[in-house]
Amino acid sequence: MTNRHCSLKVYNTLGLDISTRFLIIAETKETILEAWKFSKCFKLPFLILGEASNVLFVENFAGIIVLNRIKGIVIHEDDRTWKLHIGSGENWHQLVQDTLTKGIFGLENLAWIPGTVGSVPIQNIGAYGVELQDFCSYVDVIHLESGDIKRIYNNECNFSYRDSIFKNKYWTDFVIIAVGIYLKKKWQPILTYNDLKYLKPVSAWDIFNEIFLIRKRKIPDPKIIGNVGSFFKNPIVTQKQAALLLKHFPTMPYYPFINNQIKLAAGWLIDQCNLKEFYVGDSALYHKQALVLINKGHATSQDILSLAKEIRLRVGKKFNIWLEPEVRFIKSKGECNAIEMIS
Ligand SMILES: Cc1cc2nc3c(=O)[nH]c(=O)nc-3n(C[C@H](O)[C@H](O)[C@H](O)COP(=O)(O)OP(=O)(O)OC[C@H]3O[C@@H](n4cnc5c(N)ncnc54)[C@H](O)[C@@H]3O)c2cc1C
Repeated sequence: MTNRHCSLKVYNTLGLDISTRFLIIAETKETILEAWKFSKCFKLPFLILGEASNVLFVENFAGIIVLNRIKGIVIHEDDRTWKLHIGSGENWHQLVQDTLTKGIFGLENLAWIPGTVGSVPIQNIGAYGVELQDFCSYVDVIHLESGDIKRIYNNECNFSYRDSIFKNKYWTDFVIIAVGIYLKKKWQPILTYNDLKYLKPVSAWDIFNEIFLIRKRKIPDPKIIGNVGSFFKNPIVTQKQAALLLKHFPTMPYYPFINNQIKLAAGWLIDQCNLKEFYVGDSALYHKQALVLINKGHATSQDILSLAKEIRLRVGKKFNIWLEPEVRFIKSKGECNAIEMIS
């Protein structure tokens, strides 16, 4: 399906009234390749998207946006493992729910995250003590120029906190077409996250249901209030930096992170800056979670940018911590440097 000068309002979870010159909904890799060839032929910018739940359109897009809807789930098993090969256009949350219904457990902590399966390895989605890297076996990508398909195994993905090799510029000529997820048949609940610790005894469905309640308390439903989940990443600092901050702010929450580093809670840092009532145009901080920026109805990209800039400045001035967006910023010709846009 192709549309010209199409509004993306219903196709981005922030609900911004943005348009693209061409919009294509692709159910096969062949359609994606054709769209890419068309973009090359007419020298148009090309962008692949899932459900646009992790992007901020800074302005109208001047090229072709392809919404990936490649479907299909194949399940194999051996004595110890469920092996899932999933089309990258499948909806992530639906996959989590379907696996549980089939008695395949393990993904429950990552329930209720919007978006497609193809996007989950890119920022190594994470929530409630679990990250995709814990289950991802491989990622299949197609090279847009040659049509060659390549399998990238977990140890080659360089997964880290909200990051992977797929954020590297080299991968802009590739599209993720499938993801392989392996889940152990011997299920172990992961209850390391504070709000889950009291859940005992517990089933995967208990965790799934509990996470629904936790999320409902903290994050608005994008179908009702436009948002992209956490707008900023939690900052990672050295032990020395954390110790210095704790001297001035003894109640500051902090969490041990890999390589002797410390993870801080971006939401807490923002909360300390008295921004609860702050808004720009029709954009504001969500009253139940300061890390979530919302579109109250008619916010523009500029409203969201100015709001994000002000938050970053206030936190920076107070803590000398300069927040980095988790969200990807898209200009008329493609992705741009998010930090530069709000500095
Ligand atoms: C209410 C809400 C809650 C959220 N909670 C969480 C959470 O708990 N944890 C978390 O990690 N994230 C969370 N997010 C962020 C978001 O849902 C995830 O990052 C999700 O994986 C994005 O999927 P998407 O399909 O919408 O990606 P999109 O926003 O469509 O795309 C994101 C980026 O990936 C690229 N891309 C998309 N598909 C492909 C592909 N097939 N091949 C190559 N590149 C591709 C795009 O070009 C873009 O740069 C939340 C968002 C919302 C709105």
